[in-house]
Amino acid sequence: MSEPSLFTKIIQGEIPSSMVAQGESWYAFLDINPQRPGHTLVVPKEQAQRIAELSSESRRDLMDGVVEVQRRLSIEFETTDFSINVNDGPLAGQEVPHVHFHIIPRTKSSTSHPLWNMSNKPSDPDFEALTSLSKKLQSY
Ligand code: 5GP
Repeated sequence: MSEPSLFTKIIQGEIPSSMVAQGESWYAFLDINPQRPGHTLVVPKEQAQRIAELSSESRRDLMDGVVEVQRRLSIEFETTDFSINVNDGPLAGQEVPHVHFHIIPRTKSSTSHPLWNMSNKPSDPDFEALTSLSKKLQSY
């Protein structure tokens, strides 16, 4: 068994957190360093670094947790719109090696830009490259 992650310690109450909600297999709490008010993390109680390493059950339940958190944030922030992000592994910017969804309520007072906008988009779509990659991906 690997060392308990920071989020496992939070789930177990060893490290304090500001809980938003929890289910049998997931736990949701406010991010300590919010990008916008209401920024919440939803984590599986099962410890795994990447989504693909989770049991199917935990993975399915996690989406119920996301929607439950959205329901609660909707009431508080009077919005139906959210930015949702997962940094699935260190190369994606994951700092805490335990799967977590970032849920951020978006309101008229915040900008409408996506929070995670990967820039350097070419102005004209490269259809040749898209077709070639599409073919490759379909063959796997
Ligand atoms: P990542 O970069 O791994 O996708 O996101 C990790 C998130 O965990 C960050 O947004 C960071 O602010 C949050 N975080 C790190 N340590 C703690 C902590 O001790 N408590 C809480 N509530 N959030 C944390």
